[in-house]
Amino acid sequence: MFKNECPGSQDIKSPRPEEIKCRSCGAEVEIWTDETEAKCKACGTVTNRLLGASCLDWCAFAKECVGEDKYRRIQAGRSSKN
Ligand SMILES: [Zn+2]
Ligand SMILES: [Zn+2]
Repeated sequence: MFKNECPGSQDIKSPRPEEIKCRSCGAEVEIWTDETEAKCKACGTVTNRLLGASCLDWCAFAKECVGEDKYRRIQAGRSSKN
């Protein structure tokens, strides 16, 4: 469908759920591939993770690739981690 799409923008444009471990209690927490943080259902801790290398890291057109809303949200999530 999208022939010239960046491989790195897939996970952001078509997010899918992944499981990460809560850093507090070790429970499985569902996080979508376009999300940088998710709340543990068991203990309520918000677990952050870095998004993997994506379009945003190398692509001059990342904003267009993933859409401006998502671009801004992800960049904001990244910078808030300091
Ligand atoms: Zn937890
Ligand atoms: Zn791109």
